Amino acid sequence: MRECFEVRDTDVGGRIGSLTVPSAGVTVETPALLPVINPNLDTISPRRLAEEFGAEILITNSYIIYGTDDVRERALEVGLHELLEFPGAIMTDSGSFQLAEYGEIDVTTEEILEFQRAIGSDIGTPVDIPTPPDVSRERAEDELETTQRRLEAAQDVETGDMLVNAPVQGSTYPDLRESAGRHADATDLDVFPVGAVVPLMNDYRYDDVVDVVAAAKRGLGADAPVHLFGAGHPMMFALGVAMGCDLFDSAAYALYARDDRYLTVSGTRQLEDLEYLPCPCPVCAEHSPDDLRSLPDDRRETELAAHNLHVTFAEIRRIKQAVRSGDLLELVEQRARAHPAMLDGYRALLDHAEQLERSDPVSKGAFFYTSHESARRPEVLRHHRRLERLSVPDSLFLTEGESARTDEFDESWRVEPPFGPFPRALSKSYPLTAEVPDRTDRAALEAAADGISRLVEANPKTEFTLGHRSWPATALERVPERVRVTDLNDG
Ligand SMILES: [Zn+2]
Repeated sequence: MRECFEVRDTDVGGRIGSLTVPSAGVTVETPALLPVINPNLDTISPRRLAEEFGAEILITNSYIIYGTDDVRERALEVGLHELLEFPGAIMTDSGSFQLAEYGEIDVTTEEILEFQRAIGSDIGTPVDIPTPPDVSRERAEDELETTQRRLEAAQDVETGDMLVNAPVQGSTYPDLRESAGRHADATDLDVFPVGAVVPLMNDYRYDDVVDVVAAAKRGLGADAPVHLFGAGHPMMFALGVAMGCDLFDSAAYALYARDDRYLTVSGTRQLEDLEYLPCPCPVCAEHSPDDLRSLPDDRRETELAAHNLHVTFAEIRRIKQAVRSGDLLELVEQRARAHPAMLDGYRALLDHAEQLERSDPVSKGAFFYTSHESARRPEVLRHHRRLERLSVPDSLFLTEGESARTDEFDESWRVEPPFGPFPRALSKSYPLTAEVPDRTDRAALEAAADGISRLVEANPKTEFTLGHRSWPATALERVPERVRVTDLNDG
């Protein structure tokens, strides 16, 4: 068990956890957002982040501090917490981002970790190599090897009670991400950023982000706190949490504000295009778009940054509540409707339903079937697997209608799309209590047919009859041929 992290509640791959940060003397509740602070620019002061927005943790770049003489001297003299005036936990990045942008940096993992500890960082970072997407396999392997050597070097640095990040790289090669996760997990380092996903997000490749995270998670243990590094748009937090990410950092709130961009949970708007502000935060309650547009540049930037942060923190709270209530996937489905690329992300998430099913609670409040993607949720998969273990009589009527009134069959089971058949005794148990629309879609019927197929194949000696309500051919052709089929709507 990793001492610094405890998982308290789960839904799908998402969890509510506590990250104990000993040198700061604080415990951060996850999922958590780390606002990015540029030590040279102060859009919103760290004190305000803590007091007004409830930020428990932030991230700043130790390499910028290291390279700026007066800031470095002051950081060494008074420490990072006093320099930034922030009471919570402070994570520091190492300059890997600068390495990726400019090709080189003049500091080693040992030097930067010692420096991070000397200025009082609570979570330090080695100099890993953020390998971009789609590079050659050879380059991805070479750079991963370098990253892994540096993680090993980081273990030998005297870091006291500072926690240390172990970034997981491997470009867009799932097997490399998985083995990188396994290697990082085997070190004695503490927090696990999935690195170099920013280029994927900039290109709206949310499905590839999901595959990369799923691979890293297969390598990491379930007790590893995972940081989706560089993911700051609230639109994708629900998806990230559902995959099992615990930490997010946002530079977006400030960067977008600088360009008059207004964040929402369903995408980004330009301030100039807005006639109304669709948000209840104090900034939007007190200003009209015209008010904001007429502010001087620096005031407008601060107000927009404040709005962007309100939206971002509110989404984190909404997600935590969804994990508690067991309706995180319903929230992911809503967010997936905001943009076709988000829908791709959700569909990619469902490709990993088997992996997610392992951490998904067996019982929750309600299953709402809200899109045809719902037919591929982990609960459907789990029910289909359960069908193989149920005991069945010699002859069985599977029906969408009433029980058979004849003694033609030994038993009659209900068929409910998207789950398929189940004994009536189970009808009060999750997920069979699902709320499903009356106007069933083809995906739900096909999933129900797959359930029948699983049951039939597991019980070769039983005679099956299916009473369905005018299923389309695409569903009926998934039902094994030896099942007698009757349409209840005929006559
Ligand atoms: Zn607002």
